[in-house]
Order: sequence, then C-alpha cells, then structure tokens
Amino acid sequence: QPALSKRAQSIGLSKIAQLVSRAAELRAQGKDVISLGFGEPDFDTPLNIREAAQKAMDEGDTRYTATGGTNTLKLAVQKKFKNDNGLDVDLDQIMVSVGAKHVLFNAFLATLDEGDEVIIPAPFWTSYPDIVKVAEGTPVFVSCGADVGFKLTPSALEAAITPKTKWVMINSPSNPTGAVYSADEISALAEVIRKHPHVWILSDDIYEHIRFTEGKYATIAALAPDLSGRTLTMNGVSKAYAMTGWRIGFCTGPKALIKAMTAIQGQATSGPNSIAQAAAVEALEGPQNFLDESRATFKERRDKVVCWLNECPGIKCQTPDGAFYAFPTCSDCFGKVTPDGTKIETIDDLASFLLEKHDVTIIPGTAFGAPNEFRISYAASLEILHEACNRIKAGCEQLQ
Ligand code: PLP
Repeated sequence: QPALSKRAQSIGLSKIAQLVSRAAELRAQGKDVISLGFGEPDFDTPLNIREAAQKAMDEGDTRYTATGGTNTLKLAVQKKFKNDNGLDVDLDQIMVSVGAKHVLFNAFLATLDEGDEVIIPAPFWTSYPDIVKVAEGTPVFVSCGADVGFKLTPSALEAAITPKTKWVMINSPSNPTGAVYSADEISALAEVIRKHPHVWILSDDIYEHIRFTEGKYATIAALAPDLSGRTLTMNGVSKAYAMTGWRIGFCTGPKALIKAMTAIQGQATSGPNSIAQAAAVEALEGPQNFLDESRATFKERRDKVVCWLNECPGIKCQTPDGAFYAFPTCSDCFGKVTPDGTKIETIDDLASFLLEKHDVTIIPGTAFGAPNEFRISYAASLEILHEACNRIKAGCEQLQ
C-alpha cells in the first residue's frame, strides 16, 4: 500500500477516542457504562436558534457564503467583541470558521513553518499539540501543576520562550482543568510577552460564558491593547449556546493574519455552513437568558461533583472556576492494588480499572499532559453524576 504522510502518522488515535470505543464495546456486551468523557453541553440548542436555522433554509439561505463568514454574522461577532470584551475591531479583523477548532487550524497553517514552536501550558486541550503537528510546528509544553492552580506563571512562560517561539496559547476557562485566569494573572503574562516581539498570542476564550467567578471576563487583547497587533482572540457558539454540532467558531486578530487565514480556509471549506451561520446570528443577537440558566445548572453540578469526588479515598479535587470539567488529583491512589492483585501505577491504570470493574469512564490526565489527574465532564444530569461518583468511590475504596 502507498505510504501515509509523516503528518498523518504524527497524530495517533486520541486516548479519549480509544476509551470511548472501549466503553462502546462494553456497552455492546450489555454493561451499563457511564461515560463522563464528553466535551459538550448536554442541553438542546435553544429553540429560537433552531427556528432561525429553519427560517434561513426556507428563505433560500442555502448557498456558498463569503469565505470568512456572512456580513450579518461578522457584524454580530463585532458587536459581541465590543459588548462582552471591550474590543473595537473592524470587520476585516473578524473571521468565521467551521468551529473554533478550525480557527486554530487556519492560524497555525497560516503562520507556522517546520520547527516553529508553540508554547502550550499543560494540562492542555488535547487538540492543541496535534493541530500544531499537522502544521509542522513543534509543541513546547510548560507544566502547570495543581500547586499553581494549573495556570501558566510569568516565570514559567519566560523560561519557555526561545527565538523559535511563534505562539503562546492561553485558554481560560481551561479545558481540562476549569482554571480561570484573573485580570492580574493575564496582565502579568502580557508583561512577559511584551518583551518578545516575535511571539503571537492565541487566546482561546471558547468557555468565556461558562465561568463562576465574579467580575469582568479577562482576555488579553482587552487587557494589553498594545499587544493586539499580535493577538488572535478566538471564541464560538459551540459551548455557550449548546451548538457543538453546528460548527461555528470565530476570531479577531490583525488584518494581515485574518487575510492569510481566510485564504487558507477558502481552499479547505470555501466557507462555513450558511444555515449554521444564520443560527449563530440568532445565538449572538437573540435573547441571552440561556447563558445564565445553563451557567446556574453547571454551577450546581460543579459544587456537588467536587464534593462527591472529595469523598473518594485517594482523590483531591480543587474547585474549578469555569468550563464544565472537574480535574481531580489522584496520585494518592498510585502504588495501591486492586482486589484482583493489579497494581495501580498510573492514571491510565486507574482509568482502565474504573472502566473494566466499575463501569465508569474517566479521561486520564495523560491525554492532557497531566499524569496525576483525570477529567470528568459534568455536562450530565445530577442523577448520572451522582451514580458515576459513587462508582468512582467504590473503586477507590477497593484499593489497598
Ligand atoms: N477550545 C477548547 C479549549 C475546547 O475544549 C474546544 C472543544 O472541545 C474547542 C476549542 C473547539 O470548539 P469547537 O467545537 O467550536 O470547534
């Protein structure tokens, strides 16, 4: 068979995908496995948004749109950046893509040459390093453990920057940790980046609206406007409006970067889906009460899940400030033995023990560059979450 590219070989099947497929196998064998692996809200897309899509279809909004998004959606995004983030940007500084993930793809393909480095604070969203590798860049991980609240510190950032650094990733609230950076913390990172004019900043704000801290949301382009010429701020409707399947993400950055990204997107997709763009306009411009309601639901679940996890022997869970993930540390379980004599040496061992013997899927932190933690998503009903935590507890209680 003709060979696959080095690029394709550099990205394997993700750990998450492997676990999801093992859980599906067990389910097919009749086991009632609970999966807390998913990174999407469990709510339906609000009705007004679905109706806007229907209307768009009925009114013939079914053709190719401008590559970087319809004017109407770009106007809505412009207003969103102004109202929510205090960013004043022109329409040619805005681009709409097929999900926020696609923004990353466009950005890295538009800027990375072989060997260029991208600083990725770990724990990280699994896709960051893989997308960097597809674009032939080199991910550089900076370990940010539980002791620093899983956040990048100025000194760790400073130590990681080299002449080859092209980008620094900032993700707040974070997937997988739920950590939220304060304005002071972001400003301190900006202070470091200011000294290195060859470095771009990618601010992944996709969980902006799922945040439980008080005060204004902190994003670097607003806090360090002098760096806006090298900042790409990305966001989207997937998480905030329960629209993961609609595939609409957007970003704002300097004109030249947006232009290059648009050229790349034009050859990949011609542009985002016309109907989903009409739905995204309604999401951004229609009633916003869904944001408060879903945030309140997530907060209630977070509080309970953190409490239940902290009742599990060997597990310590910090209270995440945003997103819909809990990220407990379970190194105290390592070195212990299961009832059938298997030693739990790593977080992967713990995940497979819990899946095989207690019918619950957790995502081991190794998928996110964190060897001592696991991630569970609390985008599920309280009933399911309680049962899942009971199973985790039962598993932990069996370890000797
Ligand atoms: N950024 C982070 C941190 C995410 O967790 C995700 C989705 O899981 C995305 C970006 C991508 O979002 P989208 O569904 O809009 O591509």
